[in-house]
Amino acid sequence: MNIHEYQAKALLRSYGAPVSDGRAVTRAEEAKTAAGELDGPLWVVKAQIHAGGRGKGHFKEADAGEKGGVRLAKSVEEAETEARKMLGRTLVTHQTGPEGKMVNRIYIEDGSDIETEMYLALLVDRASSRISIVSSTEGGMDIEEVAASTPERILSFSIDPAAGYQPYHGRRVAFSLGLKGQQVKQMVALLGNLYRAFIERDMEMLEINPLIVTDKGDLKVLDAKVGFDDNALYRQHDVAALRDETEEDAKELQASKYDLNYIALDGEIGCMVNGAGLAMATMDIIKLKGAEPANFLDVGGGATKEKVTEAFKIITSDKNVKGILVNIFGGIMRCDVIAEGVVAAVKEVGLQVPLVVRLEGTNVEKGKEIINTSGLDVIAADDLSDAAEKIVKAVKG
Ligand code: ADP
Ligand code: MG
Repeated sequence: MNIHEYQAKALLRSYGAPVSDGRAVTRAEEAKTAAGELDGPLWVVKAQIHAGGRGKGHFKEADAGEKGGVRLAKSVEEAETEARKMLGRTLVTHQTGPEGKMVNRIYIEDGSDIETEMYLALLVDRASSRISIVSSTEGGMDIEEVAASTPERILSFSIDPAAGYQPYHGRRVAFSLGLKGQQVKQMVALLGNLYRAFIERDMEMLEINPLIVTDKGDLKVLDAKVGFDDNALYRQHDVAALRDETEEDAKELQASKYDLNYIALDGEIGCMVNGAGLAMATMDIIKLKGAEPANFLDVGGGATKEKVTEAFKIITSDKNVKGILVNIFGGIMRCDVIAEGVVAAVKEVGLQVPLVVRLEGTNVEKGKEIINTSGLDVIAADDLSDAAEKIVKAVKG
């Protein structure tokens, strides 16, 4: 689960991180008051969406002006004007995809005088099963670009979970970033606080880009992106309360309510599969046969008819879906349950696209019978390869 910059900053502030004063608003009229409560003489007006690259982004609507989603203002009036231009408009960044994201909230923050911009992140490194600290002197810009063209400018090391964070970790990062004197102490404290927040709040990723040195020589967190481990949300009630459902894919949100493992993708073939491995294999074979999957969907082992029905409805609600492939290997999951779910869902929402069903395993005969006697226009398939070929052919001709 992700949160907004303003929420991340409030959280990090509560852990002692140096963050500027700011106010989040949802209406332009509030922007002026909010800006008036800050010191000035420089304000930064920042679009709050769950995507990075806002500064370099652009708006779809012409009346939003030429600038991106991070704008400077020299007066409270200007802050209001800029907020008004962004609210209700669609911001496109390299992370939102071409469709962009609607800006429903603006964060107005005290402007900082920036000496240098750096990059700092904590993340769970799956390879070492540890928390890694990543830092770079090349902050503020596209870190993916730095990683691709000048990887030597990124320092990364992991922390031994038994010993935890130690001040020398902070000094190592500070020296690699060329920090001096007071800044080294600030970095040691900051990293300690970030590490504590990361562990205590079950974070998956914490990215500060940029972390800056101000004109006064102090460190400051200027941007913050935080992602949490969904599996830990049950014990992080404060964090769960920060969820902004308007930022999430409607289909993924619906799937999460039914405990379905669903990820929306860009292709045209909707997939309903049991088991993550089989789902991956199904997506691979669809690609091999010349089409693209529209989603990853693992209905899980113990899916009920209701769950299958819901899954099917989510797939058909995707207007990019030109065909559906149901690929089930019945183990714990019984083929007849899947068949009943599919039939119930089709009766409820109709079927506008070709449907290929491949069933194998527990109760396969019963499952096939349910499908065959349902009167539905279903294309039956024998194995995975056959199924993929049939659905691609049905869609692409
Ligand atoms: P994004 O990463 O989505 O583009 P950032 O918050 O990193 O958004 O802002 C982009 C750039 O805008 C920063 O690299 C920084 O140069 C500038 N900026 C952001 N916040 C402030 C601020 N409070 N004061 C001065 N400059 C800022
Ligand atoms: Mg940034």
